[in-house]
Amino acid sequence: MPEKIQKTDAEWRALLTPEQYHVMREKGTERAFTGVLTNNHDDGMYHCGACNAPLFSSETKFESGCGWPSFYAPLGTDAVEEHEDRSYGMRRVEVTCATCGAHLGHVFPDGPKPTGERYCINSASLAFEKK
Ligand SMILES: [Zn+2]
Repeated sequence: MPEKIQKTDAEWRALLTPEQYHVMREKGTERAFTGVLTNNHDDGMYHCGACNAPLFSSETKFESGCGWPSFYAPLGTDAVEEHEDRSYGMRRVEVTCATCGAHLGHVFPDGPKPTGERYCINSASLAFEKK
């Protein structure tokens, strides 16, 4: 397992933009179709916007039409963690960075082959590195 990164609230606030802080530390959601990476089609790696751990490859990104960057699989089984989320009267599965615990988005069971999963991830939680 990767080494865990832990910082205080003040340290995260100093490190992140207000939008990144809201999404990643307060589990916010950016407005649909506003994220800069939603329509990014370049080859490369999507890293955690907080700790820079690699999370998703462009090879698994697909057009979901949901308004957020969508992937059918994370980079590896230990790149992200999944937690049941019962907020807002819904039952969803939250996805967090396994390294620093940042909120990334949610995973839904309506994705394409080969996994059938849709990792719906906020642009604000990601940092893209072009290949
Ligand atoms: Zn992270």
